[in-house]
Amino acid sequence: MRDVVILGSTGSIGTQTLDVIDRNRDRFRVVALSAGGSRLDLLADQVRSFAPAAVAVPDAQAALGLAQRLGSNGPELLTEDGNEALAARPCDVVVNAITGAAGLRPTLVALRAGVTLALANKESLVIGGRLVTGAASPGQLIPIDSEHSAILQSLRGGARGEVRRLILTASGGPFRGRSRAELADVTPAQALAHPSWTMGRVITINSATLVNKGLEVLEAALLYQMDLDDITVVVHPSSDVHSMVEFCDGATICQASPPDMRLPIALALGWPERIPDAAPGYDWTVPRDWHFEPLDDAVFPAVGLARRCGKAAGTAPAVFNAANEVCVDAFCDGRLGFLGIVDTVSAIVAEHLSSGHVPDEQLSVDAVLAADRWARQRAAEFLAG
Ligand code: NDP
Repeated sequence: MRDVVILGSTGSIGTQTLDVIDRNRDRFRVVALSAGGSRLDLLADQVRSFAPAAVAVPDAQAALGLAQRLGSNGPELLTEDGNEALAARPCDVVVNAITGAAGLRPTLVALRAGVTLALANKESLVIGGRLVTGAASPGQLIPIDSEHSAILQSLRGGARGEVRRLILTASGGPFRGRSRAELADVTPAQALAHPSWTMGRVITINSATLVNKGLEVLEAALLYQMDLDDITVVVHPSSDVHSMVEFCDGATICQASPPDMRLPIALALGWPERIPDAAPGYDWTVPRDWHFEPLDDAVFPAVGLARRCGKAAGTAPAVFNAANEVCVDAFCDGRLGFLGIVDTVSAIVAEHLSSGHVPDEQLSVDAVLAADRWARQRAAEFLAG
């Protein structure tokens, strides 16, 4: 039996994690949950179904709302620094499924506690960089991102010294094939209509801009200690092949399955064991084609920008991520056009690299959080101006 803490239990990854656990109650037990407090009815249902010992929400008002829904026999409720407190609780696996930079401290706490970290919150790895990888012992950090899970599985096909490059697949998002001019007026509703995945708001917009793929390139470089130039992005619209590893003899090993996050979630929960029936496989009696095409870097410059941030390392990825989070909010609220997201992030990254950048050798959590705050402030100024 593995005891599991889920941070961000009411989101897309959080609810799918609970679905996997619900179908495997003989293997996994939920010991704590956290959420942002915007879906208290759902959180209360989860508490009633899984009976965790503790639940964290961001503030006293959310705690009161949850307590009212649960009555007198509810779990221990935590508010301030609740995610960190839960990540430090005795358990076997912490699932970090929070969105954004808020995931950094819980990621570090879980790694220092020595438990397995099933990481959906790629932002914490990307912005924390070597602070996160340095805190992780071998095999402790298991990615939930489908691409990185696919690479982890494909790496079983050969020795590490035999790996030539990693190939990350990208669906291309809802705007694949469009010109830059055709992207000028796209709406949040269009950007939120992802062709193959149903995900939270931020990652869905990031998939439309390809910022998500940029974050994933940085995530892959950190997780698998690969040179950024040895990580290729290829567009694969149906999201069947989740990523690939090319070995030195020319063999490419891939992992394929119908798009369903419950497979990588189950693998991360049970690692290194597979969980039977985690997600449906293919019906191979049905004809199917798998198409691949190169990424159009001119229309979608986010991957190139992310690579530049990865090469600069230090606080550059934190600035890339934080400026993007602010711009995604502004786009969803109608205050910024679609192309303005990456254009604004690019301008803020350029400013940061010319002044204020903290190099990798001097990176600290405080430096990351200071860069994060600076980028949010600067993005707000850009949007106001
Ligand atoms: P969602 O927006 O659907 O869910 C985010 C979750 O985090 C919600 O439970 C939300 O609570 C909670 N949350 C927000 N702020 C806090 C906080 N301060 N403390 C505790 N909980 C908080 O996002 P996704 O599930 O789509 O994504 C989560 C992470 O997983 C992201 O980093 C994303 O990039 C990554 N990921 C997601 C994939 C997917 O298929 N969805 C695939 C691969 C990676 P509330 O409900 O109250 O808002």
